[in-house]
Amino acid sequence: MVFDTHCHLDASSFDGERESVLERAVSAGLTGILVPSITPSRPTLPSHEMLFLARGCHPHEASLWTETPLSPLDCEDCVAIGESGLDFFRCKTAPEIQRQALQSQCKLALEMEKPILLHERESFGALLEETDAFPNLTAVFHAFHHDKVRAQSLFERGHYIGLGGMVTYPANGALREAIVEAPPDRLLLETDSPWLPPQSKRGKRNEPSFIVEVLERVAEIRGTTPRLIEAQTTENAVRLFLP
Ligand SMILES: [Zn+2]
Repeated sequence: MVFDTHCHLDASSFDGERESVLERAVSAGLTGILVPSITPSRPTLPSHEMLFLARGCHPHEASLWTETPLSPLDCEDCVAIGESGLDFFRCKTAPEIQRQALQSQCKLALEMEKPILLHERESFGALLEETDAFPNLTAVFHAFHHDKVRAQSLFERGHYIGLGGMVTYPANGALREAIVEAPPDRLLLETDSPWLPPQSKRGKRNEPSFIVEVLERVAEIRGTTPRLIEAQTTENAVRLFLP
């Protein structure tokens, strides 16, 4: 039972192959895949009991949200809001527009009593400052790639971290240290497919079945079994997204 909490199955690189990707995911032991949206429009997905949806707007596309924000009614069948966040790494969208879209999505998440999925690049301090304005908000910092000090600042606030391919890359020693010390009830697994493939698949299109490599690496880092990590992270995902 593995839950991929961040997978862009609607990405065009999966066109014509979504059914086989899902079959391989089932064979790999996945029981849930959460698909966040990049733009406010609804992602087109095959109907499958394993698929769950989040709706929101990626910081790269934040101007689309400020033009046409979604309402609670639009998000009724969602398990989370997002993917929102802030991206200050060569992003074409102005920080002010990104902040406006983020604030609006934080409000929506609170109103709907749902968690928010956050993308963060070169923007950790700003993102924390924005989310701190919404004290009851529960956030998932997806593709978390920072050290234990930053991880701790999220855990103190009750937020979660999403662990994906980056935990398998040799350079990320500080991240692995953060994982060793993380409380088990704050960890989620993800692939961020079709991006960020794990080390043994670098250069390839990522897909949910590759999450097994992330799972095994997290278990190794924490000095425990994949079975235990699988149980803990799936329990976390179910508590957070399917209460
Ligand atoms: Zn994403």
